[in-house]
Amino acid sequence: MIKSINPATGDVIDSFEAHSAGEVDAILAAADRAQRSWRRVPIEKRVLLLTAMAKVLRANKEDYARLITEEIGKPITESRGEIEKCAVTCDFYASHAQGFLADETIESNARESGVVFDPLGVVLAIMPWNYPFWQFVRFAAPALAAGNGAILKHANNVPRSALAIEAMMREAGCPDGLMRTLLVEASEVAGIIADDRIAAVTLTGSTEVGAIVASQAGKALKKQVLELGGSDPFIVLPDADIATAAATAVKARFVNVGQSCVNAKRFIVHEDVADAFNEAFIAGIRALKIGDPMDEATQIGPMARANLRDGLHDQVTRSIADGAVLVLGGEPIEGPGCYYAPTLLDRVTPDHTSFKEELFGPVASVIRFSSTEEAIALANDTEFGLGAAVWTADLDLARRMAREIDAGAVFINGMVASDARLPFGGIKRSGYGRELGSYGIREFTNIKTVWIG
Ligand code: NAP
Repeated sequence: MIKSINPATGDVIDSFEAHSAGEVDAILAAADRAQRSWRRVPIEKRVLLLTAMAKVLRANKEDYARLITEEIGKPITESRGEIEKCAVTCDFYASHAQGFLADETIESNARESGVVFDPLGVVLAIMPWNYPFWQFVRFAAPALAAGNGAILKHANNVPRSALAIEAMMREAGCPDGLMRTLLVEASEVAGIIADDRIAAVTLTGSTEVGAIVASQAGKALKKQVLELGGSDPFIVLPDADIATAAATAVKARFVNVGQSCVNAKRFIVHEDVADAFNEAFIAGIRALKIGDPMDEATQIGPMARANLRDGLHDQVTRSIADGAVLVLGGEPIEGPGCYYAPTLLDRVTPDHTSFKEELFGPVASVIRFSSTEEAIALANDTEFGLGAAVWTADLDLARRMAREIDAGAVFINGMVASDARLPFGGIKRSGYGRELGSYGIREFTNIKTVWIG
């Protein structure tokens, strides 16, 4: 049984039978058929599906937001923001997909030569629970516009969101079978990746699962996009606007109860301003309102699952044993629900657990440095390479640092966040490939050369 459990109360909201092997087979067969017709629909007609998705998302925003909050404990105001972002992204690709995938002429010795962008087929999307609608939409809006089909294997703690996404697509007029949700255990995924009716795979999730899925897709020689974990640095130089940096740091670390891949996780702060930064950071963390995620004022709800909270607490305990200084929090909050106290660890060093591992929850680590070169070295001293932030008044220095930091994105005087207009993705063990922007829509296309002699 696949269960939906409210992490604020521990109550089982609903449970679902997993799809049988026969049902999976029928879903893949229908997706394969539907995609073969869909690819022949002209792109200017395909994007109308995206416009309809945006409409349905906005019309049902409150219902979807409540569903997300019930299922993973995300504060309700953030859940509404997630749905709006999905709608904005559908609108963006509805307007731009045709331009991004327009035929290109490339001069050669042919009479005429260039490229066209064809779809790959049906893409299997293995998605995490942390932004249950957004993770799907940021993949699916461009992939469907490009002429692909989409099979969603969502995280098993969000079956209601997974089914609501399927219903949303139906309501938007998606052709029968082109997008389906599979309710299956993770152990079934290998067989689905190997199935001939799956052309490519996209995974958003942990680095560990990324390595498993990459090897399975690699064995089947199927294109993959991997959006994996991160331990983003947030570097504060001595000339930074400390008040703004600290206020942004609170948001950058604690949005979504600290369960975002691009949350800032390692705060690398110059020693001359570290105390001033910490003072403002601590005041901001103390002011966060913890409570029922359905309450409009709540900023910190429960974590999504009890085992995630237990794992986080183990990492915090090990970090303190390693020598990190506990300044705030550091323990689960008593009572029902998977709450964890917003936590600040200071004087963290590269050999501490909270530097080496990704902490996927409301825990910030402060690392002190004394030179810019040291800050860059600390930022890069990680297996991850997703996002990074640099705070300074010296934009020339910031631009130079941006080139030297190993990450898929560097934000200067701002918080790392995805945006439909800009490519998003990682390097190193944060994955490969890009989503969003003009780069994302081409990932699941066959860049086909056409040569006319
Ligand atoms: P996870 O455990 O890796 O799960 C992600 C998805 O993979 C779920 O659908 C899960 O299904 C499935 N899965 C698990 N084991 C599998 C296996 N052996 N074979 C195939 N599929 C398998 O990740 P999570 O803990 O839910 O999410 C948190 C992680 O995702 C963090 O590391 C975070 O940084 C990363 N993340 C990255 C991005 C990004 O864009 N780079 C965005 C968000 C999150 P089940 O639920 O059934 O296990």
